[in-house]
Amino acid sequence: MARPIQAVIHMGSLRRNLEAMRRLAGNRMLWAVVKADAYGHGLERAVRAFEGADGLAVIDIFDVERARRFGWKKRILLLQGFFRPEDLDVVEPMGAEPVVHNEELIRMLERRAPFRDLRVHVKINSGMNRFGFRPEEEPRVRARLAAIPGVRVMGVVTHFANACPEWDYGGPVPVREQMERLGEIARRTSGACFANSAAAIWLPQVGGDAVRIGISLYGVTPEPGVPSASLGILPGMTLRSEILAVQNVHPGESVGYGSRFTARRPSRIGVVACGFADGYLRSTPPGSPVWIEGRTAPLVGRIAMDVMMVDLTDHPTARVGSSVELWGRNIPVEDVAARAGTIAAELLCGIAPRVPFVEDED
Ligand SMILES: *Cc1c(COP(=O)(O)O)cnc(C)c1O
Repeated sequence: MARPIQAVIHMGSLRRNLEAMRRLAGNRMLWAVVKADAYGHGLERAVRAFEGADGLAVIDIFDVERARRFGWKKRILLLQGFFRPEDLDVVEPMGAEPVVHNEELIRMLERRAPFRDLRVHVKINSGMNRFGFRPEEEPRVRARLAAIPGVRVMGVVTHFANACPEWDYGGPVPVREQMERLGEIARRTSGACFANSAAAIWLPQVGGDAVRIGISLYGVTPEPGVPSASLGILPGMTLRSEILAVQNVHPGESVGYGSRFTARRPSRIGVVACGFADGYLRSTPPGSPVWIEGRTAPLVGRIAMDVMMVDLTDHPTARVGSSVELWGRNIPVEDVAARAGTIAAELLCGIAPRVPFVEDED
């Protein structure tokens, strides 16, 4: 028998999240961002759940081939373009659309032309300062790309460094200026795609013709502390397991490696089949909740490679075999992440290969 731990992917929630984000996107085209194996949910599942999206957005060239193999027939955006000239052997025949974010990529295209029909997007640097051309370079880059035989410029993309509610939009002038320049590009050109989840939710003034929606499709609000229910989205993943053993511990006795927890009262300690080798971060502090049959129980002691301990003293019905939710509908993954000092996406992407995935229609 396999260990009882499972990552349950809620296909119905993923579908409903797409509908919720579609309502928010209005009449803009929606790219479903499925990089990193669909934020840990599995690309093949994402292809099925997001069949109503207008396109998929990925990072790996290999994911273009995978998505096509899984039956995706619509558009595919390559968020970081291509990496080597030979990538174009896959990109063009598979009908993927790379962003072009620097001069080297333009030169690779020029050297490899002519193309049959290669659709590209100009990447603008709006202040993240990782990829892209400055806004004022857009006309020049567009003209140079358009001059390459077989290359078609589909639009302009940017990725904001800040788009969260606490960001004061009326604040830093350089940011506002950049937004104005982007707005100018959006009015002048077609195919502008500026917003990720956060910008689509909190910066309606960003506009454009398309949005790239990632984290919120998986039921996570981009800003920790904003409940996902307020956006009408639900967690796409539940990490669940079971209690393997229960120990009755006397006052003064300790639990786990390093004896980090010492019982102050007669205690029932549950041993849960989930450890850091499953992707639950060892840095998650004691006191963090798990959900056991209708109520929470706090973590105690150190998280080990294969197990963690929970205090069941105030949970008399929990016993060996009880189901444990590590994160999901009752324990938001955002909260677990915040306690561990990270963001939900890191936890979702970090489920270890040894954890079996199952699906339900919830
Ligand atoms: C990951 C990514 C997105 C999606 O962002 P979310 O915050 O997950 O919605 C959009 N654009 C680019 C370029 C990305 O890398």
